Formats: sequence, C-alpha cells, structure tokens
Amino acid sequence: MTTPCPESKLAATRIKVGRSLAADRKAPRGPGRGVACDVSYTLAFPTASVATIVMLPTEPVGSIPRPAALIAGVQDFRAGRISQLELSALYDSAVRDTIQRLEATGSPVITDGEQAKHSFATYSIYGLDNLSPDGVPIAFADGHIRHFPRLTSGPFRYKTPADVYLAIAQRYAHVPLKQAVVSASALSLLYPQGGIRGYSREEYLDALIAEQEGEIRRCLSMGAHVVQMDFTEGRLSIKLDPSRRLLQSFIDLNNLVLERFSTEERKRIGVHTCPGADRHSTHSADVDYAELLPSLFELQATSFCVQLASEPDRKRVLRMIRDHARDGQRIFVGVIDPLDPRVETPEEVRDRILEAVDYIPPDRLGTTDDCGFAPFSDDTSRTRETAFDKIRARVAGTALASRVLGLE
Ligand SMILES: [Zn+2]
Repeated sequence: MTTPCPESKLAATRIKVGRSLAADRKAPRGPGRGVACDVSYTLAFPTASVATIVMLPTEPVGSIPRPAALIAGVQDFRAGRISQLELSALYDSAVRDTIQRLEATGSPVITDGEQAKHSFATYSIYGLDNLSPDGVPIAFADGHIRHFPRLTSGPFRYKTPADVYLAIAQRYAHVPLKQAVVSASALSLLYPQGGIRGYSREEYLDALIAEQEGEIRRCLSMGAHVVQMDFTEGRLSIKLDPSRRLLQSFIDLNNLVLERFSTEERKRIGVHTCPGADRHSTHSADVDYAELLPSLFELQATSFCVQLASEPDRKRVLRMIRDHARDGQRIFVGVIDPLDPRVETPEEVRDRILEAVDYIPPDRLGTTDDCGFAPFSDDTSRTRETAFDKIRARVAGTALASRVLGLE
C-alpha cells in the first residue's frame, strides 16, 4: 500500500507554465500508480516564458457520461443478450478510456468517471435481493422522478462498496484518484417509514454506519487522494421538511460516520453539496442556500465541493461560505456548470475564482465542477466530449487564476 499524501501536497500542485502538457507529464506507472503525490504538470499557456507556479487545488466531483457502447451493453446484459464477462469488459474499457481522457485534461486529481456505478446513490446496493424499487421519490424541476429503492428486510449489507471501483481505477490511473461515496444520510432513506418487522431502524442505521465506515477506511488505506461523501440530499431535505429537522438528522448521522475517523484521516475526507443534476434539471435549486450552508459546515470533514457556478447570486453564497465555514475547512467552489451545454472559457473560470478570493483566502480555496456530469448511469443529456472540454477549461482557468494570484 502507499503512503497518504502529506498535507502540503494536498494543498497545492506544482505546474509549469508555457510548454505542452503531453511533452512534460511524466507520472510513472508502478507500485504507487494512481496515488502519486508529487505530480508536476505543464499546461499550455499563451506565454513564451516558462515558470513554475503552485496551482490552487482542483478536482472533479465524480461522474462522466458513459460511452454509448456501455449503455447499450447494460441493456443487453439485462435482456440476457451478453454475459457478465462481456459486460465487465465494457466497464473496464470505459474506465480505462475515461481515465486516459481525464488525465489528458491536465486535472491533477481525477476520478474513474463512475463508469461502473449504477448511480452515485445506489452503486453500493444495486443488485441486493432485499430491495424493492418503490422507495422515496425524488422529483426534479422538469417533472421527471427518480425513485429511491426501499429496504424490505434485514440484515443490511453493501453489495459493491466504493473501494471495489477504486481498485479497478488504480489499474489505469497515473495521477491521484478521488473516490466518491454516497452519504449515510442518503441511504438512510432506504428504510421505510412504516418500519420492517424484525429489523428495527436502529439496527439498520448501525449496519449502515458500519458499512460506510469500512468503505471509507478501505478507500483511504488504498491511497485515495480524498474520499468525497455525496450529500446532494442536504439541500433537498429542506424541501421535504422546511423545519430543517430532517437536515439536522442528516448532519448528525453523517457526523456519526465522520467521527469514527481521526483528525488526520479526516483531512482526506470531503463532502459534496449540490441541488442535484439529472438530465437537464435539478431537484432543489429553488431551496435557498442560506437554509443549508450554516449546517453544512457542521460536518466534520475537511474539504467541501460546493456548487456555485450556477447560482444566480454567487457573491451572496460566497459571503455565507465566508461566514460559516470553519477553520481548517477548504472550499472547492464550483466554477463549471455541468447543466449548461456551453463550455466555459478559461478566462470565465479565472474570473469566478478571483471573485471567490474576495471571500475565501487562497490557502483555503480550491475549484471543482458544480456536480458530476452524469450522476445516473443512463443520463445521456450531456456528451463525454462536453464534459472533458469543461474540465479542461476548469484546469486552465484555475492555472490562470493561480498566476494572477502569484502563487509561486
Ligand atoms: Zn452533485
């Protein structure tokens, strides 16, 4: 196994400016593959000079649209037309291609694009026998609905925890890998309101917390750069319960997981918040961020990937982040809107970062995308090409801002 990245390396990636990426990136494959810390990048810049600068941290949220061949393969497998072995080969090929293309964007931290996940929320439970498809409905603003599954009996165990996906990605990655996990609070929604005979809610939550602790702990010990807890239901909860009691119960439950980790371990644990992103829509963008943000930073995590680019009043949100984020927490602000089909320019990204610096000092700032590009595996509303173009713009814009800020 590998040594976790020291904090100084987590905080900053050195990049050289002025030469081409392909010519200079030399992260070797080997025993530390996928978890290398000392990654040097060279990005193409409109300048003749070559200078080394320290770049603000930048990382994706998680998902990338699946290739058409994989989406068709999943349907073929369900219809009995191809074997598990053939489906696995399609997953493998999609992960390999996604990682290659993410690395080519220059992003110093990548994911596996969640190619093999059924969805960001259900990857660990998909295929369990004790689930029924008619659980809590999640309504999106454009009228479509995703249904959460419902637990029908105990005991509860994950079927495919996130470390299984991480192990596959590590075969192909040359740069640090981030691993997203679904929050315990999202999976708490599996347990039906009416209860389950012979399997109490308390027994279920105990099992859930233990499963998630194990999942995160294994990802950390395997060398994940950071483990990100996806907390999209945080904002949604205020819609379901305006009293915010549900939100507080979500925060408390997730903290029960987070508190099982040491301060040192929690430096590599993050949280992602967003109003959802599926097809062309969100589930809770109409919920005022002011209802969520003060509670969000109660979570005992170190990094926060916060949707921001698509907010109508970013400065108001930045003020709230400034007022409520705690010492030692690093805020990765969303500078790319995955739901917007237009690819942002590096200059736009730069300006969004410089706007954020008025509220968050550079040593506590990073950049990210507002959300994944296809949190649900069957979502084809964005193309892979657009996702990679947008990520390339994030990386280039982050480098531009880093230069303006003089992070040398
Ligand atoms: Zn999201």
